[in-house]
Amino acid sequence: MSMSDRDGFIWMDGKLVPWREASTHVLTHSLHYGMAVFEGVRAYKTVKGTAIFRLQDHTARLMRSAHIFQMKMPFDAQTLDEAQKEVVRSNKLESCYLRPIAFYGSEKMGVSPKGAQVHVAIAAWPWGAYLGEEALERGIRIKVSSYTRHHVNIAMVRAKASANYLNSILANNEVTAAGYDEAVLLDPEGYICEGSGENVFIVRKGVLYTPDLTSCLEGITRDTIIQLAGEMGIKVVEKRITRDEMYSADEAFFCGTAAEITPIRELDDRVIGVGHRGPVTKALQDKFFDLVNGRSDTHADWLALV
Ligand code: PMP
Repeated sequence: MSMSDRDGFIWMDGKLVPWREASTHVLTHSLHYGMAVFEGVRAYKTVKGTAIFRLQDHTARLMRSAHIFQMKMPFDAQTLDEAQKEVVRSNKLESCYLRPIAFYGSEKMGVSPKGAQVHVAIAAWPWGAYLGEEALERGIRIKVSSYTRHHVNIAMVRAKASANYLNSILANNEVTAAGYDEAVLLDPEGYICEGSGENVFIVRKGVLYTPDLTSCLEGITRDTIIQLAGEMGIKVVEKRITRDEMYSADEAFFCGTAAEITPIRELDDRVIGVGHRGPVTKALQDKFFDLVNGRSDTHADWLALV
């Protein structure tokens, strides 16, 4: 089903509009020059009703992304939080993925966005496991892309910005065409950085390692995992990781709002650990899914009931 041809409502610039009417002109500035910031958020069905996971943290990152690019956000965080809840309610969704986006409109053309208006839209739709339901247990086969992830003075990696994903698309296209499930990118110095849309962790001798935040997105799932691991007594180290360190890891997984916690079973045709989901990954997945589905009594503040 086309993303534009659906029933339901999309929030645009302060009001809900019928899904098929939520459109913008072909001379939209962001379409030409790539300057837009967005979020990926999930809502889950919990015993208390549908709840958006870490809503305030996602909205705060959206505001920071806009700030980095000096995009003047026309709505405050509280309005955007409420709007996201309204979108879930009005589309009668029990569990879904939400996509808030802020972009420059068609008010002017030319590289400088000065004079273009910032528009904000929020859509939500059901979206299952990003890398496939079976991948959550079986794991995926990934490959290091020949494309390097952003240099910190070329792209603003703290921002979740549309243009950053050109690099993600190059990497993902390259490795999926070669039969792999997803790409992992190296930073400009050759260390493991992140997937095309996921942060990455490895496990060695019971310790979790993840790249520091120099060149990768400050993932909210990454942060959730670091906090959960701490509570489970699992040590977490943020440091540079080499690709051979990952080849010889006991376990590895990707994480992200869309990907949740997806085990990695192979990197560059080397089997990682036992070749499927390992025990640390499973324990973290169980904790994570208990949490997002409201089956845990900790972190209740991370669930915003709609
Ligand atoms: N890195 C990239 C490049 C991403 O697109 C995402 C998904 N937003 C992540 C990491 C994970 O971030 P989060 O856990 O906040 O979804």
